[in-house]
Amino acid sequence: MIVRADYHMHTKFSGDSKNELEAIIKKAIEIGLEEIAITDHGPSHNGYGIKKENYPLLRAEIDRLNLKYPQINILLGLEANILGTNGEIDIDDEMWRMIDWVNAGYHFGSNLKKDFKIHLYNILSKFSKHYFEKAKAINTKAMISAIENNKINMITHPGAKGPVDIDAVAKAAATRGTILEINNSHGHLTIDEIKIAMKYPVVFAVCSDAHEIEKVGLVSNALDRAYIAGVDKSRIYNVK
Ligand SMILES: [Zn+2]
Ligand SMILES: [Zn+2]
Repeated sequence: MIVRADYHMHTKFSGDSKNELEAIIKKAIEIGLEEIAITDHGPSHNGYGIKKENYPLLRAEIDRLNLKYPQINILLGLEANILGTNGEIDIDDEMWRMIDWVNAGYHFGSNLKKDFKIHLYNILSKFSKHYFEKAKAINTKAMISAIENNKINMITHPGAKGPVDIDAVAKAAATRGTILEINNSHGHLTIDEIKIAMKYPVVFAVCSDAHEIEKVGLVSNALDRAYIAGVDKSRIYNVK
């Protein structure tokens, strides 16, 4: 299997990365990638989120670098935050007009506005079976609502920051044509989760979630999990 693309990586516009955009692109070309998506954290993440005013700058910079490096296709993406059970994610109309590739995932640091109990349940889920089940139910509802209410290309690391019902998420993702990520940096999807998701005609992608230049395109752990779970190459969006 040859990895042709990587749809999850962060630049210095995310608070938890120092990556320069052009260095990412050079690295991606060096390792033979044909396409990448630049997916900084959505603006509602406290601390790590991209500042909204930087999004047009990133758009312009990507347009410029696509001309400079015609051997690779660079997409402007975002790792939007799933913000509640009503399907809300943190992409506003202005960002929707600029964006090429939409990732969405759940993160502790996001500003939930209404459904703040999602964070609470996820913290308590580590200590109590009761709250684990409550967290799982509300996370699943939020993730499915996000999938159903938005045009999301890929759900990032499902299950990594809080438990979800993978069966239900995979069913919704398959219906909407939303990719489920097998994330190289976080352990999810796990082998068992991949096996559950495979019951539905859902498509997977193996992505790096690189916060450092050396990790761009590095998906060996994710590929191992896909291989052990028995996923056919035809169901992995970014390999050939
Ligand atoms: Zn993430
Ligand atoms: Zn990420």
